[in-house]
Amino acid sequence: MENNQINTDILIIGGGSAGVAAAVASARMGVRAMLIEKGPFLGGKATRAIVSTICGAYFRSEGAALRHAHVGFPKEFCGRLSVASGTEPFTYVEGLRFLPYDHQAFKLLCDAYMLNEKVQLFLHASLSSVGMENGIIDSVDAIALDRRVKIFPKTVIDCTGEALVATLCDLEVLKDETYQASAMVFSLTGIESADFENLSLSVRRSMKRGVEAGRLHPELEKLSIIPGSLKNGSAFFKLSVSRAISDELNKATELELFAREAVSAVHTFLKAENGPLKNAEMSVVASELGIRTGRRSLGKYILSESDVLNCVKFDQAIANGVWPIEYWGHDGNVNMDYFNADDCYEIPADCLMSADLGNLYFAGRNISASDRAIASARVIGTCLATGYAAGKMAAGSVLKRDANEIIQEIKSELLNV
Ligand SMILES: Cc1cc2nc3c(=O)[nH]c(=O)nc-3n(C[C@H](O)[C@H](O)[C@H](O)COP(=O)(O)OP(=O)(O)OC[C@H]3O[C@@H](n4cnc5c(N)ncnc54)[C@H](O)[C@@H]3O)c2cc1C
Repeated sequence: MENNQINTDILIIGGGSAGVAAAVASARMGVRAMLIEKGPFLGGKATRAIVSTICGAYFRSEGAALRHAHVGFPKEFCGRLSVASGTEPFTYVEGLRFLPYDHQAFKLLCDAYMLNEKVQLFLHASLSSVGMENGIIDSVDAIALDRRVKIFPKTVIDCTGEALVATLCDLEVLKDETYQASAMVFSLTGIESADFENLSLSVRRSMKRGVEAGRLHPELEKLSIIPGSLKNGSAFFKLSVSRAISDELNKATELELFAREAVSAVHTFLKAENGPLKNAEMSVVASELGIRTGRRSLGKYILSESDVLNCVKFDQAIANGVWPIEYWGHDGNVNMDYFNADDCYEIPADCLMSADLGNLYFAGRNISASDRAIASARVIGTCLATGYAAGKMAAGSVLKRDANEIIQEIKSELLNV
């Protein structure tokens, strides 16, 4: 097998929301940024699991005014996505706000950022091993489609969503016995209702009746319509997969097979119900099951549930968290724990810096946070901010800039809300 060798200043592993933001921040600091992504397109859960709404981008508020959680890159990204998707921020229950988006527009926007910022992008490129010496990562191996590539980065940002770098280095990671329930997203066209509330009620009733009558498996009952997605007779649906998720080998395969079959069964059932979905056809099925949480990296500080619910502020803050703790249990039900409206907690820089390795940073849903804290901080708006901050911190270390000065710059760029 050919052995290609590449030098770079910053290697970002994983091109989800956090990885894209990290790459943009690094490139804007003038260092060489390289991003490897194992899939064929960018966006991670936002595009492969088609979660369809950006949460964590606006403060929860009972008032009418829309207040961004961050200025700078997260606001810029949401603004461009809103224009490209033809959508506006949506006000939901309890003063929650989010931005519905088109998943194809999300992919194209990420591509445009990579091209404009001149990030060296490798799609179909999967991290396979990490070399370390004297507390520093000195090389990373990846398989890029059919080639082995050896990368020599000065710093590494783990945006895999699964703390993969720490796992491959046999470092301690934050993990749980089981993780939050997953969900499969799909869309239907030919819906004969234009009213979100009526349609939601009709679907909920059908599903309940189906389970009670034994025509639908009880595990398939929790189906919801993604708010803001119903237009022109089509909508996106989210089917909760009421099964435990663990680190057990091949658990993900079992769940993917189950979820695919489940989506087909639910579609067939709803058509037979003779309601507003009797002529509905399946148009899109997410290419992967949406697994919400997994292992997190161990940083110099672990964000806690109490930090989130008490809106704790930190001197070294680099991001704001505005979304409540949204915890999906294995019964397929969600539990929301709110903190004060119009307030936020802050995420300190230490949650993005490895406790063990001098040149490892992380961002997105694998930051150093407890399982309850990440149930809030995993939303896309927050991932865009932690990604951007990690990119800037990593670039600052390559440029041998003072770390406190960089944190102050991040604060004034992102947190001046
Ligand atoms: C069902 C579901 C519903 C959700 N609903 C919402 C919602 O409505 N609003 C909201 O804001 N958030 C929602 N979320 C949460 C949000 O989508 C994710 O937490 C967020 O997108 C995570 O971004 P990330 O960049 O940290 O990780 P990810 O998006 O998971 O990106 C990680 C990337 O790393 C890549 N990767 C992994 N391993 C490797 C490797 N070995 N080599 C190279 N690349 C690798 C992956 O392919 C992926 O592209 C939902 C999540 C799920 C699952």
